[in-house]
Amino acid sequence: MEINQIINYLIEIADSPDKAVKLSCEKNHKNAVGWVAPYAPEEIIYAANCIPVGLWGGEVELRKARTYLPAFACSIMQSIMEYETRGTYDILKAVLIPAVCDTLKCFGQKWKGACPAIPFVYPQNRRVQSAELFLENEYRLIIKKLEDILNVDITEEALRESIILYNDYRAAMREFTEIAAMHTTTISPTVRHQIIKASYFMDKKEYLCYIKKLNEKLRLQPAEHSKNKRVVVSGIMLEPKGILSHFEALGIDVVGDDLAQESRQFRTDVPFAGDALKSLARQWINHNACSLAFDPYKQRIQHLVDLAHHSKADGVVLALMKFCDPEEYDVPIIMSRMKEENIPLLVIEVGQQATAFEQINTRLQGFIESMDY
Ligand code: SF4
Repeated sequence: MEINQIINYLIEIADSPDKAVKLSCEKNHKNAVGWVAPYAPEEIIYAANCIPVGLWGGEVELRKARTYLPAFACSIMQSIMEYETRGTYDILKAVLIPAVCDTLKCFGQKWKGACPAIPFVYPQNRRVQSAELFLENEYRLIIKKLEDILNVDITEEALRESIILYNDYRAAMREFTEIAAMHTTTISPTVRHQIIKASYFMDKKEYLCYIKKLNEKLRLQPAEHSKNKRVVVSGIMLEPKGILSHFEALGIDVVGDDLAQESRQFRTDVPFAGDALKSLARQWINHNACSLAFDPYKQRIQHLVDLAHHSKADGVVLALMKFCDPEEYDVPIIMSRMKEENIPLLVIEVGQQATAFEQINTRLQGFIESMDY
């Protein structure tokens, strides 16, 4: 397959999640198990011989969601709730719901989909040993519930194989983001986003083959020396896609990210820590520089500065998800540190229900102009 064919295939997957998940289940003779953003132990779902499907909401008009969620619940959860009530997730056999913020703590009790929900808690104080033990137990409960629902055995061997596959996937994705930064004409902001997003709707083994092939082919191409402005993006996610088309129209390349939907997913490998559950739990303990994992020293800020330097970025765009408290707390600290470092910063508010982006377009335009001074 040529570069364009791989890219088009992955874009098609990202554009039609329902169709892609159905096809992947049929092709691999597997069931689908969902997990609500931002994080979940996908390895456990994969070890149950199921396709893990990441639920990150989408661009949908809210009709029934407001009946179950307050207007100030974040825009991702509003979209997910809307899809639940419309039966979009009926293909799933179960759904994992992580409690990493106040909205998600309630969300675990409000699931309206047809399949059973499995809420679980990520411990936030990760510096005490009990945090790891607690999470191992949470994962043990998830296994037990999945085994009962799916009528399968999730073995230690299957978990280990799954961990190896996922670490391989993470390494390939880190490589992809590095190569993408050198080929920003081929891998435009929208293409980059869609390629990463496709991984949520496919069997990881199959996705990995495509991404490795793409990396290999892109590596053989000369670096593209675009004259566009280079930015690093940070936040939960950078959607709706309409925003990215403004990046492209204005000549802005994405050369690195600190998005929960993108690099934060594959930044931290699962370390070898004895048995599989201990290893999976240790990964959360090692997961740093993230607004959704208690970060008393705010390592995220230094990470952003390092990422901006490493990517030779002209600036940073912070995409602030509407009504996401954990992200909002970081904004003033990021603003003052970027000022100190002389790194141009633009904070834009994003929401999945938005349909017009003229205001963001104007702000991006002003941001580009300010970088030239
Ligand atoms: S409030 Fe933030 S962290 Fe919580 S679910 Fe919404 S986007 Fe995710």
